[in-house]
Amino acid sequence: MIRTGIGFDAHRFARGRSLVLGGVRIPSEFGLEGHSDADVLCHAVIDALLGAVGDGDIGMIFPNSDPTWKDARSLDLLKKVMERLAARGAVVIHIDSTVIAEKPQLSQYRDAIRANFSAVIGLPVDRVSAKATTPEKMGALGREEGIAALAVATVEQP
Ligand code: MG
Repeated sequence: MIRTGIGFDAHRFARGRSLVLGGVRIPSEFGLEGHSDADVLCHAVIDALLGAVGDGDIGMIFPNSDPTWKDARSLDLLKKVMERLAARGAVVIHIDSTVIAEKPQLSQYRDAIRANFSAVIGLPVDRVSAKATTPEKMGALGREEGIAALAVATVEQP
């Protein structure tokens, strides 16, 4: 059976933190606030995958209250989620994702982000999409208060 899942996440900008999106460290004046490395794109992809197999959400599996995940690399969290999918016999077919940010410009990092997801999820790179858009100065994201991300995962599960 083919199943789809949706993921959404948002994090505030914070000084003195590195900006990591899709496991790629991106030069930026600000990073993102969060318990882990605050990789908002990775978190959206994780929730999309968990949604596709009906296995809860990122907050249930990696709670903020658990010191194990303090400053954790979110790509490592994604690896753990892939183990959960594998245990259910689920095979990922496709990932689509969009980062919503007024800044920084992400086009030059797209291929590196796709390569990271491709490697960790075990998908050919042409089945991993990483897009970016700006909120056109509207709302909290438009005021550069943080970054949001959306993802859709398509999974085949017997
Ligand atoms: Mg998050």
